[in-house]
Amino acid sequence: MGWVSVDFCDKCGTVMVSKEEKGKTFLVCKKCGHKVKDYKPLEISEKVSKKPLDDVIIIEKNEEALPKTKTVCPKCGHKEAVWWLQQTRSADEAPTLFLRCTKCKYSWREYG
Ligand SMILES: [Zn+2]
Ligand SMILES: [Zn+2]
Repeated sequence: MGWVSVDFCDKCGTVMVSKEEKGKTFLVCKKCGHKVKDYKPLEISEKVSKKPLDDVIIIEKNEEALPKTKTVCPKCGHKEAVWWLQQTRSADEAPTLFLRCTKCKYSWREYG
């Protein structure tokens, strides 16, 4: 017994669908009809939301606190930008350097 947090049928591996019956939520396999009782939907949504935060540029940075560098903005050609490092993928990869133009606020990332 206990809460079941799988979203795949443990008999045939097909994705299961949640179904409400008499006020309780079940997981039902569309293929073989296998049913999981006491399904707790919260655990599934938690799983789904755990996506890697790739290609996300956080722009809520306090610009005053960021160091400035001489670089050319690819958008407006301004020659000064603030920069910061951000971990975008797994922790064992080097953080990515992000730059933001102090004039037009355009943000971009520096590769390599
Ligand atoms: Zn099944
Ligand atoms: Zn610019």
